[in-house]
Amino acid sequence: MEGIEYLKKLNASGILPGPENCICGNKNLNIQKLTSKKSGFCFRCIVKNCKRYYPIRANSFFSKFTHMSIDSVIEIIKCNLCFKFNIKKAKKYLAEEKNILYSSNSIREIYKEMRKTIYLYYILKYESEEFAQENRWAYYAADESEFTHINNKAIWVVNVIDTNTKEFRLEVTKSREAINLKKFISKFIPPGNFIITDGWAGYSWLNDNGYERLEHNHGQNDWGSGNEATSHSENIWNVLKNEIKSTYKSIQNKDFLYLLREAEFKYNNRNKSYQDMIKEFFDCYNLISNFDDYGIEEDDSFYTNDTLNNLLGESSEVNNLSENED
Ligand SMILES: [Zn+2]
Repeated sequence: MEGIEYLKKLNASGILPGPENCICGNKNLNIQKLTSKKSGFCFRCIVKNCKRYYPIRANSFFSKFTHMSIDSVIEIIKCNLCFKFNIKKAKKYLAEEKNILYSSNSIREIYKEMRKTIYLYYILKYESEEFAQENRWAYYAADESEFTHINNKAIWVVNVIDTNTKEFRLEVTKSREAINLKKFISKFIPPGNFIITDGWAGYSWLNDNGYERLEHNHGQNDWGSGNEATSHSENIWNVLKNEIKSTYKSIQNKDFLYLLREAEFKYNNRNKSYQDMIKEFFDCYNLISNFDDYGIEEDDSFYTNDTLNNLLGESSEVNNLSENED
């Protein structure tokens, strides 16, 4: 059982947020031990004639996993985000290194909830006004890839990458036609910037729309170098495919976009310490749980994507992913 100091630390960092306020209106709640008859801890209102108490997991990621201890859930999150373990490896690590025994299903439930969290986080982030006004990068590269096939249909993904930090954004598109590339690129990069691309004709609109296109024609053995190289983008495809395959068996699945987002999150946070990466994940969770409109409760039908639906037909069900067994 976690001690009170540990819980207070989690509370201070936002990992265990507790209720926003007591129903009496008071915003100050203390973490304290439950009565002597009951073990465990709670949040308790400090107002003298109120003293209401609330479950320690109230308003947190952990409320979905009441059969698991709080620190075990954090360990499982670490296995996924930081170690990139598939479920089998996570189970082995927890048993051998942490003396924690959980079934594959318990671990799988947490992995699934993490994918949903990260997916929703990116929807909110990319649609937010703050993101639209965020300072943008100096050098970009853009590339598109026939990333995978699902039900024998090609799934195209387009990315833009900051060639300095290697941070990237990506999206599934219907095809590599200019109209689809333009929709994505102009959302993420304001005109006036340099954009490095290969020789594909789908980028020819850039110059007429206020961008400086630095074109490297691979057919003429021109790949660019340094900040201008097209390899920045091309490497991302391999990184993403490897990230996904290390945890999951297959990317030929309708949950593909969730896997892609999860890999994007892991990659873009890869230089953070374990603690900061886990904190980042919980910040994402807190952000989306404050947006009730997104209905993050148990409605799986939300987790679909228009582009993928159009490509694959809405009838396909969201499959349960099978994890990589290696
Ligand atoms: Zn109160």
